[in-house]
Amino acid sequence: MISFKNISKSYQIGDQEVNALKNVSFEIEQGEFTVILGPSGSGKSTALNILGGIDKATSGTFLFDGVAINALSDAKLSDYRRDIVGFVFQFYNLIPSLTALENVGIAAQLTGNQALAAPFLESVGLSHRKNNFPAQLSGGEMQRVSIARALAKKPKLLLCDEPTGALDSVTGLKIIDILRKASESSDTAVVMVTHNAEFAQLAHKVIRLHDGEVATIEKNSGPAALS
Ligand code: ADP
Ligand code: ADP
Repeated sequence: MISFKNISKSYQIGDQEVNALKNVSFEIEQGEFTVILGPSGSGKSTALNILGGIDKATSGTFLFDGVAINALSDAKLSDYRRDIVGFVFQFYNLIPSLTALENVGIAAQLTGNQALAAPFLESVGLSHRKNNFPAQLSGGEMQRVSIARALAKKPKLLLCDEPTGALDSVTGLKIIDILRKASESSDTAVVMVTHNAEFAQLAHKVIRLHDGEVATIEKNSGPAALS
């Protein structure tokens, strides 16, 4: 489904060149929950931004279902971001004046499926919070709403940037469990970026980056379930 082949990305800062990614290659299958793991500055966000069509590789090939995303026009790239990709952020990015259900409904409406909002909120275990506003929810609950919102768009690729970064470890593991189950119960590939190795245990695949290079790729056929 996704193939990164010798992807490199460099940034020019003044007369200095920063090589954020160097010949990075990996594959991600449909329904797979992949964690990109590495310390700060290892290139995780750069990889996620390229996957999401927000940034373009300097060289190499990024294929999505056989299409070379790095060769698309800006208009086609914007279609890719809108139709194929969903995003989950560290700080939730919910609309404060809308309830949990309305926040999810915003994404469902995009695809003409307003009625889908409630089941998506249910799928993250938050039906009982549907009429609460973000300020009335805990961090873990806000992240669950933001995952439901992203899933309601029915993305083929769900990209999560440190989704547990603002949560305690127990709440974070619950979020990871929800992401893994989402990948297993839909056609969505879930890719999550984190610097926290504790969260990698539930992934189907762990891609470790170090200094912009792939250090290891581990496959985990039977990830430990939390419950
Ligand atoms: P991580 O997400 O693992 O912390 P990043 O992908 O953000 O790593 O960064 C990798 C390297 O690329 C770092 O050295 C960072 O400073 C550099 N970098 C990232 N984005 C930019 C940018 N927009 N301009 C210049 N350098 C950047
Ligand atoms: P978590 O472990 O998920 O971070 P918290 O300990 O923060 O949960 O919250 C526990 C419960 O209290 C949650 O169900 C949450 O919805 C509720 N809660 C937290 N803050 C508020 C608030 N400001 N108003 C109403 N309910 C709240």
